[in-house]
Amino acid sequence: MKYIFVTGGVVSSLGKGLTAASLGTLLENRGLKIALQKFDPYLNLDPGTMSPFQHGEVYVLDDGAETDLDLGHYERFTSTKLTRFNNLTSGQVYQTVLDKERRGDYLGKTVQVIPHVTDEIQKRIRELSQVSNVDVVITEIGGTTGDIEGLPFLEAIREFALDVGIGNVVFLHVTYVPFIKAAGELKTKPTQQSVAKLREIGITPHILVCRCEQPLNKELRQKISLFCNVPYEGVIEETDVEHSIYEVPLMLQRERMDDLVCRLLHLQVPPADMSHWQDIIRKLIAPAHRVRIGVVGKYVELNDAYKSVYEAVIHGGIANDCGVTIEKIEAEEIEKEGAEKILGGLGGILVPGGFGERGIEGKILAARYAREANVPYLGLCLGMQIATIEYARNVLGLTGAHSTEFDEASPHPVIALLDEQRNVARKGGTMRLGSQPCQLTVGSRAAHLYGAFLIHERHRHRYEFNNAYRQQFEDAGFRFSGTSPDGNLVELIEIPGHPFYLASQFHPEFQSKPNRPHPLFKGFIAAVHHHLHHKPISGMPR
Ligand code: GLN
Repeated sequence: MKYIFVTGGVVSSLGKGLTAASLGTLLENRGLKIALQKFDPYLNLDPGTMSPFQHGEVYVLDDGAETDLDLGHYERFTSTKLTRFNNLTSGQVYQTVLDKERRGDYLGKTVQVIPHVTDEIQKRIRELSQVSNVDVVITEIGGTTGDIEGLPFLEAIREFALDVGIGNVVFLHVTYVPFIKAAGELKTKPTQQSVAKLREIGITPHILVCRCEQPLNKELRQKISLFCNVPYEGVIEETDVEHSIYEVPLMLQRERMDDLVCRLLHLQVPPADMSHWQDIIRKLIAPAHRVRIGVVGKYVELNDAYKSVYEAVIHGGIANDCGVTIEKIEAEEIEKEGAEKILGGLGGILVPGGFGERGIEGKILAARYAREANVPYLGLCLGMQIATIEYARNVLGLTGAHSTEFDEASPHPVIALLDEQRNVARKGGTMRLGSQPCQLTVGSRAAHLYGAFLIHERHRHRYEFNNAYRQQFEDAGFRFSGTSPDGNLVELIEIPGHPFYLASQFHPEFQSKPNRPHPLFKGFIAAVHHHLHHKPISGMPR
């Protein structure tokens, strides 16, 4: 078994997760079986209780684990299936250690960071390699070297490396080489200092992935190699990608990073065949068509908050040879300026998931505009609930219709708390989470797009369509195109006759990949493109 540890230095947001995922892609394409995991040094048990402003998107796995968004990169870039064992936080480590202490597992001993906390961390690396039967485990350590809270993780991987021995471990450090405009120079000092911090702990990186805005020349590579004690070929350049994050694996392959990793780990495997990735990039760089999609949310200034949604929209574009321009629209702007002014001219409108009242009326205005102006609409989770509220108010004439999440006293609670949620008081990990089956309606647009009648999609919600209103909606032409297999829970809705008006209670964005675009996103972008050119899509039910 071989192990790669990915750490980060100088600043956060360097794209460690992308680098780890891209290395995963390359190794997989060399015929290796890999596993990816992320360690997060914060004390929350998972990111599920954090605001997107703090942490970006919460990525949901099949098993219902609420995880770090880097796990989204892992799933999109590789074929690994992830579970809750692939994301470990300090909170989880301490919880396990403290449970053991109370049980008496350490009876007589003082419980300490070293060895009890560090042992628990190492156990999670070993467990993953055992359950997943792989050749290489890639473990990414969140945070930045120098963070106090990250120390136990670094100590744990240092000890771990000692245990598994030379030739079985690679330490890869992602660092920043800033370009100082006034000097007109790339500066290596922050990298030197961050590597020094690692060496202080006892870790000497084998590979330095240098994030830089300008290419590194030979002299700089030599300088970094010398001052950081890393072999020359271990200094890898990772400049900002020009078009898409999916270029990163190709960039790292050009730098021969995977060759070096295989050499360091004594893995004799053929080079990676990346021709299918090259095809994807070609489609991204020079698409035959272009569409503009508005994503109406409330964390729009933060690129990471709707990460999987943006990616899935781009995948839908790849499937249709369409470049997608995503307009990030603040829902409250629509409340102030009106839908026509903000949304006019867009090819399609998407309302993603969300919580809390801010911006809700703006989203309802967006759904109304899409319905009335025949603009393709895709709603995800909250986006489905919004579409339902809008239809209730403006088509069924149910004044004051709302979700009880936002108005408990609504005379028409068309969206209400799930039955299973009635007695739930604790906030962490208690929503309806993870993969659930969904039965699609014969003749629906959804069934046509999926080409199937039974699907499985991931969830994260507490509220649902209120069945007391089902008949009324149906009589008014609303179509329930997907429900839980027992028929009880509405999972998908659509408006027949509209160019494309479809919304799901689940989150399809979590299962879309660049090489396997999700059917709903593929259908949405197809509809946007065809609608712009006034062409119906052949075979698609209306
Ligand atoms: N707030 C809504 C609910 O809990 C929608 C959740 C979401 O969009 N993920 O049901």
